[in-house]
Amino acid sequence: MRRHDIVIVGGGLVGASLAIALDGLGLDVAMVEAAPTGALPAVFDQRNLSFAEATCNALANLGVWRLLRAPTGPIRRIHVSRRGDFGRIELDARDYDREAFGQVVVASDFGEALESRLGELRHLTRYRPARFVESVVDGDERVVRIAGGEGEHLLSTRLLVGADGTQSVVRTSLGIAAERHDYGKALFVARMRCDRAPDGTAYERLTDDGPTALLPRGDRHYGVVHAVSTDEADAVAALDDEAWCARIQDAFGWRAGRFLSAGPRSRYPAQRVLAKQLTARRGVVIGNAAQTIHPIGAQGFNLGLRDALTLVECITASVPDAGADDVLQRYAQRRAEDRSRTIAFSDGLARLTVNPSPLLRPLRTLGMGTIAQVDAVQSMLVGGAMGYRGDVPALCREVVR
Ligand SMILES: Cc1cc2nc3c(=O)[nH]c(=O)nc-3n(C[C@H](O)[C@H](O)[C@H](O)COP(=O)(O)OP(=O)(O)OC[C@H]3O[C@@H](n4cnc5c(N)ncnc54)[C@H](O)[C@@H]3O)c2cc1C
Repeated sequence: MRRHDIVIVGGGLVGASLAIALDGLGLDVAMVEAAPTGALPAVFDQRNLSFAEATCNALANLGVWRLLRAPTGPIRRIHVSRRGDFGRIELDARDYDREAFGQVVVASDFGEALESRLGELRHLTRYRPARFVESVVDGDERVVRIAGGEGEHLLSTRLLVGADGTQSVVRTSLGIAAERHDYGKALFVARMRCDRAPDGTAYERLTDDGPTALLPRGDRHYGVVHAVSTDEADAVAALDDEAWCARIQDAFGWRAGRFLSAGPRSRYPAQRVLAKQLTARRGVVIGNAAQTIHPIGAQGFNLGLRDALTLVECITASVPDAGADDVLQRYAQRRAEDRSRTIAFSDGLARLTVNPSPLLRPLRTLGMGTIAQVDAVQSMLVGGAMGYRGDVPALCREVVR
C-alpha cells in the first residue's frame, strides 16, 4: 500500500487546479484520473468558459495563464435582454474601473495549459488511467482502492479529495447524499461566426424556450450556448449547419449581426446536483462533485476553483495533517456563503428563463424592467461576472507574480 498526504480523485478543471495550487506546500500529493496518459480528460472539450476576473488572477498566480497558447476573449460589456420585453441590462467594465470583467477561454486550450503546468510540478504522483473504486477509514487515514490498467492498488492518505465531477463516486463513498434537479433542457454549444467580429460584448438572450448566450472568443468567433427543451433536443442535434444558423438567428435576433457559419455542436444536460454536505471524516468534495449548477450563469468552474484555493489555504494552516477535522470544518465554514450565493444566482437565472407558464410572464417582464434600475441586482451580476463573493481566497484578489 502506497501512502500520500493527499489523494485527489479527478484531474479535470478543478482537480488539476488543486494539484497545481498544492505544489508549493511540499506535501506528497497524488492525482487519480480515469483518462489515459497523453489524452486530455473528455471534459476539456469545445465548451467556452467565461473566467471571472478573480479566476484570471488566480490562474496567473498559479503559473497557468502564461501557458495558454490560444488568444483569450476579453468580456468588456455584458448585455442581458428578453424577447418581447423592452427592459434590458447593460454593464460596462469601464464603469467599474476595469478593462474587462473576465475572459473567454476554450476548455480544450485550458486543458493544454493545465497539462503543461502539471508537468512542471515536483511533488505530484499521477495515477492514470486509473479509476477510484471505494474508500474506508482506518484510524487516522483513509484507505483508497483504485483500478488501473495493471489491476487494483491500495493507497492510504490523510485526506481524500473528490474532484470527480457531477456523478462523483467519491461523494457516495464518503457517505454524502446529493439533491438532484433536472431543468428539462438540453444545452447545445458551438463556435459560430458572424458578419461582424465580436467587440467584447457577452450577450445573454432570454426567451420562453430558454436562454441563448453569446460569448466573445479570442479567435473572432462567438461561443454560443443555446438551451432547448429535452424533447426537442434530438431534432435540434439533427439540423444541418444552415438550419442551425437560422435557428440561432431567430432565437437571438440581429444584435450581433448575421450568423454565417458554425463549428461542431456538442450537447449537455441542464441539471443541478448539490452535495448535502462538503466534508466527511478524512474526505472532502469540491468542484462539480460538491455542486453542479446550471451553466447559464457561467459560474461552475469559477466557483470550483475557489473551492480548491480555499481548501489549500485551510491546509496550509495545518501542515502536515491535511485532513484533520478542524481543517475540514474550517473549510466548510469558509465555503458556505460563496457557495449558497452562487447557487442561488445561477438557479434564479435558470428558473427565470425556463418556466414556460404564461401566468409567470408578466412577473418576469416586470423583473427585467425593474432589474435594470436596481443597483443591488446589478452589483450581484457584476459580483458573479468578476468572481468576488464571500470569503475570497488570496490568490484571486490580485496578480502577485
Ligand atoms: C456547456 C457548459 C458551459 C460551461 N460554461 C462555464 C463557464 O463559462 N464558466 C465556468 O466557470 N464554468 C462553466 N461550466 C462549468 C464547468 O465546466 C464545470 O464547473 C467544471 O468542468 C467542473 O470541474 P470539475 O473538475 O469539478 O469536474 P470535471 O471537469 O467534470 O472533471 C471531473 C474529472 O474526474 C474524472 N473522473 C470521474 N470519475 C472518476 C473516477 N471514478 N476515477 C478517476 N477519475 C474520475 C473525469 O475523467 C474528469 O477528468 C460549463 C459547463 C457546461 C456543461
